[in-house]
Amino acid sequence: MEAKPRVGFIGLGVMGKPMARRLLEAGYPLTVWNRTRSKMESLISAGAKGASSPKEVAENSDIVITMVTDSPDVEEVVLGPSGVIEGAREGLILIDMSTISPYVTRRIASRLAEKGVVMLDAPVSGGDIGAEKGTLSIMVGGPKEAYEKCLPIFKVLGKRITHMGPNGAGQMTKLCNQVICAINIQAVCEGLTLAAKAGLNLERFLEVVTAGAAGSWMLSNLGPKMIKGDLEPGFRIRHQLKDLRLVLEAASNLKLPLPGTALVQQMLRAVEAEGLGEKGTQALIVAMEKLAGFKVRGRSGTET
Ligand code: NAP
Repeated sequence: MEAKPRVGFIGLGVMGKPMARRLLEAGYPLTVWNRTRSKMESLISAGAKGASSPKEVAENSDIVITMVTDSPDVEEVVLGPSGVIEGAREGLILIDMSTISPYVTRRIASRLAEKGVVMLDAPVSGGDIGAEKGTLSIMVGGPKEAYEKCLPIFKVLGKRITHMGPNGAGQMTKLCNQVICAINIQAVCEGLTLAAKAGLNLERFLEVVTAGAAGSWMLSNLGPKMIKGDLEPGFRIRHQLKDLRLVLEAASNLKLPLPGTALVQQMLRAVEAEGLGEKGTQALIVAMEKLAGFKVRGRSGTET
């Protein structure tokens, strides 16, 4: 049997840490780096090697995965001082699984190509739950040959993996995904607020509606959290605002109106203005409550 490639993992946040753990558990020799070093500890105790910089991660890896926040963050850990590019040899594959700009992705890919490094953009959908369980949807852009080489790794992390086209196509797919997610969560908030105001039992409401045509990931996973008032992330409001900024930039470049997305962006801004930017996107219910002058969280409804 062929030896498993050495994998490097940069960015051990809500998503990165469970993804890195899955790779370690699947037997990949793993080197990790995180800006806040304390987040590396549990993986090092579990058998990963801790690096002192992204450069050192690259020196010890055949494939490097980045899972950081935004475009400038990927640029920093890949192209910046002591970045991946400084430790990379020809043939290394960089997989960026963060959600960033498709345009910046293409720029990074061509800088890396000058050094013989191949890049795949492979953003994900499925949340922290999907990261833990290895059930993410992974949308990949970049050379097909590199995609095929990395498939065994993607299969440890996700259950639906699709090659979408050249570099940037993965990120563009993710932005379209975010449009659907954003409007869907707004729909969940409005449906729940109406149900609460009308005095329906909210647990029973979710139970029946989830099984019908209105069923969705947002409804199943975030609906119960909204009712309980559990606002912990998950997917942070601040990150969804970043994603919708990228969506609206892309739409603007393409001269495309996206009115629903723009509306939800403003609702999320209102939540951020309440000081809740670090909370999960289910905190959108707080903005809805403000508009309604009515509290949904903590309300189960009548028993009639
Ligand atoms: P998170 O918990 O906030 O973690 C972000 C990670 O990036 C941390 O490890 C952070 O390091 C690191 N980082 C950020 N900027 C950096 C920089 N300039 N240099 C070095 N490290 C940097 O975020 P997350 O939820 O894991 O999300 C990661 C990415 O996945 C984002 O692009 C997000 O949009 C996307 N995503 C998230 C979800 C979700 O449900 N959470 C779902 C799909 C996609 P520190 O620990 O030092 O802060």
